Amino acid sequence: MKLNLAILAGDGIGPEVTREAIGILKAVAEFGSHDFRFTEALIGGIAILAEGTPLPQATIEIALAADAVFLGAVGDDKFNALSPDKRPEAGLLRIRQELGGFANLRPCLAFAPLADNSPLKPEGIKDVDILFVRELLGGLYFGQPRSWDKKTGEAVNTMRYSKTEVERVARIAFELAGKRKGKLTQVDKANVLECSQLWRATVDELAPQYPGVTVEHQLVDSMAIHLMNRPRDFDVVLTENLFGDILSDESGVISGSLGMLPSATLGGKVNLYEPVHGSAPDIAGQGKANPLGAILTAAMVLRHSAGLEAEAQAVEAAVASVLDAVHRTGDIARGSRSAIVSTEQMGKLVHEALAQALDRQHAMHAV
Ligand code: NAD
Repeated sequence: MKLNLAILAGDGIGPEVTREAIGILKAVAEFGSHDFRFTEALIGGIAILAEGTPLPQATIEIALAADAVFLGAVGDDKFNALSPDKRPEAGLLRIRQELGGFANLRPCLAFAPLADNSPLKPEGIKDVDILFVRELLGGLYFGQPRSWDKKTGEAVNTMRYSKTEVERVARIAFELAGKRKGKLTQVDKANVLECSQLWRATVDELAPQYPGVTVEHQLVDSMAIHLMNRPRDFDVVLTENLFGDILSDESGVISGSLGMLPSATLGGKVNLYEPVHGSAPDIAGQGKANPLGAILTAAMVLRHSAGLEAEAQAVEAAVASVLDAVHRTGDIARGSRSAIVSTEQMGKLVHEALAQALDRQHAMHAV
């Protein structure tokens, strides 16, 4: 299997967690004699410092020539005074546009050994397995017009969606729900927003084409509560860009840490993979970052871009087995019951567990 990956490590903890995720992909490649190639490129604050722009043209070209793009995180407080279109985060929005992926898959799993890390009751989050499908290229983040007139004191952002944009992401969500528990929850604010009414009507129109999938609609404000009170009731959650951003971050409470959440963006020219968390300037450069979200993102690369489902499952099993032990990064530590490890040590532990998981799979196939 050949896979050409563009690596955009970015800022803050981005390079730290990306290093561990790439280490895992290299281990899978070595074990299966796959030909994985990695080309690094700049994005975010580090690109502003080197090239004066958060997304240099060379990065766009490397990304578009790749089979998949792995992005760490962008964001650096030293650029906070810049206007939004010049900040590191503008590079992220632009690369998403360039690659064209519109379906952002954000799994939220309750890892049993992390039940104590959640402020929610362990029995309430047991076995939670939600897949958020967040529309990534439309809505308030991209809608025009947008402005901030400092003289008049007025700022404008526009939420805009076309039926086609809703339909294409909804189809992906229906298909995924059909392969899972068959439940699709579409989240909106249809009691106030016309855009949300369009989302509802489009999803309802598609529903008869997917008879194996049950559809329900939720308003985003009550959904934020349901997600905490009864997360086990949800399977695939489909929503627009801003609501999906907020709800999927909220779901970090279920998984025990924002550092545990992976994501994949499909549907465009090249798939984009990134852990959900940001550049975490508060812990950057200290070896404190949890690399497991990035490593689980690497598993999504194997699943969605390399077609290596067994290897993806082996990586996920390796993460689960590491969580069963006492070693934890600080964000998922359990007081005196945990031995705190660094980002690099956590990567090494997953690496060792992965070797065992792949050996087990190999032995099973040999029987
Ligand atoms: P953040 O996700 O960077 O951090 C939020 C909190 O979670 C922090 O306390 C941080 O230490 C912790 N955290 C995050 N990831 C962690 C990990 N892997 N291990 C351990 N702890 C972790 O969000 P923020 O603080 O709101 O934003 C910081 C910067 O990141 C900002 O510049 C923001 O714009 C940017 N950002 C980038 C992305 C992205 O690149 N996809 C996403 C969100 C935020």
